[in-house]
Amino acid sequence: MPVMHIPGHEHQRPKEVTLAEIEDVLGNCHRCPLGDTRTNIVFGVGDPNARVMFIGEGPGRNEDLQGEPFVGAAGHKLDSLLSIAGLTRREIYIANVVKCRPPSNRNPLPGEIEACSPFLREQIRSVWPDVLVCLGNFATQFVLRTDKGVTHLRGRLYQTGHFVVAPTFHPAACIYHSDWQPLLEQDLAMVGAWLREHPRDGAAQPGTTPAAPAAPEGPKEE
Ligand code: URA
Repeated sequence: MPVMHIPGHEHQRPKEVTLAEIEDVLGNCHRCPLGDTRTNIVFGVGDPNARVMFIGEGPGRNEDLQGEPFVGAAGHKLDSLLSIAGLTRREIYIANVVKCRPPSNRNPLPGEIEACSPFLREQIRSVWPDVLVCLGNFATQFVLRTDKGVTHLRGRLYQTGHFVVAPTFHPAACIYHSDWQPLLEQDLAMVGAWLREHPRDGAAQPGTTPAAPAAPEGPKEE
């Protein structure tokens, strides 16, 4: 996997690199063929100190046109679900596995994911969230470094180094598979419970729900 070198940050620690620096290195990217067909790079958006980072697959048509992740139908669905985890759009960070729209919304190819992966990896290190919510197979497989599908992995939390990982269905998939929607809601409720049990200041909140299922060590650390 390619390693991204940001000048002056050879010995990188969490939060050492800013999102602006990463975006600067990304530049007018043409590291893979998606650079030739995109309208805008969709880098990511949200609170640079978010406790929760959502990771999608790649921009769709609306995202490509506006340069922002999750602004189309999947984004509206995501917005309507965030409150289940006690979150608002303003307090999360959202990025995608690939930063440019695959033509006709096809799946990103392995080479495209490989070319883009240093940027997502560095975004995760920069934001250094407590929880990574992986929306769909591509984000889940990237973060947990597994070939397993989200159908098998969802429903529990994983620990990968610092990060608690919640694999769940992609909101767009729930538009077509309405039976997955309650499962996505369950997963977000689990994230909300974990956040209440683990407040950022470390002080236990009175009256919180029991802890989410013990977070097993994930397949790999990202
Ligand atoms: N689907 C994604 O995975 N990401 C977006 O930004 C929009 C739709």
